[in-house]
Amino acid sequence: MGRMSPPDGDIAVFLHCLQAVCGELLANEAELSALDRAIGDGDHGANLCRAAHALLEAADDLSSLPLPKALERAGMLVVTSVGGASGPLYGTMLMALGRAWPQDATAGAVADVLEQAMEAVGRRGRSTVGEKTMLDVLVPAARAFRESVASGSLGAALQAMVDAADSGLAATRPMRATKGRAAYVGERSIGHLDPGAASARLCLRAVARVLCESGSKELRS
Ligand SMILES: [Mg+2]
Repeated sequence: MGRMSPPDGDIAVFLHCLQAVCGELLANEAELSALDRAIGDGDHGANLCRAAHALLEAADDLSSLPLPKALERAGMLVVTSVGGASGPLYGTMLMALGRAWPQDATAGAVADVLEQAMEAVGRRGRSTVGEKTMLDVLVPAARAFRESVASGSLGAALQAMVDAADSGLAATRPMRATKGRAAYVGERSIGHLDPGAASARLCLRAVARVLCESGSKELRS
């Protein structure tokens, strides 16, 4: 399999991904906040919308940078614009992607970096899969992408990634939260989807949709 995109197309693809992710977050503010109200403090939608506005405002500046720098800068913007736990965690993911972005961005090399970035999020949050957090989507999705990219097309790997994100989100419903604010509600967190896992799934789906479309493929919903 070849590169994810032509070298000079990287930043254009990044911008499309950024716009798609921000659009998804803005469109789903109410739903994300409702999920957070059930087991947290109800600000997840508003927090991520603040990040989306900051990113969209900076889109022109970001597009003048080489992709690794744009990813790092986007991560710093997310950290500084978002309160709560989700800002530092999503920011860590973007900064880790930027710092390790491969010079030759083949799908396989990107898959390795993606998985490392999810591990960095886990270290930052001192958390792991199974604790009802965004990691329950990010980690299995990155693993599915890496495993599938080795054997199949980019389209198939992106499909495997969004499928893993879907099941990762669904798996948070019966979990009892042991990390983050939802841990305070203990047993009452059982039966609700995790808002961080829900936003992570939205972001991954938006990125996958853009990458599929730029390769003229469609994702199954
Ligand atoms: Mg919250």
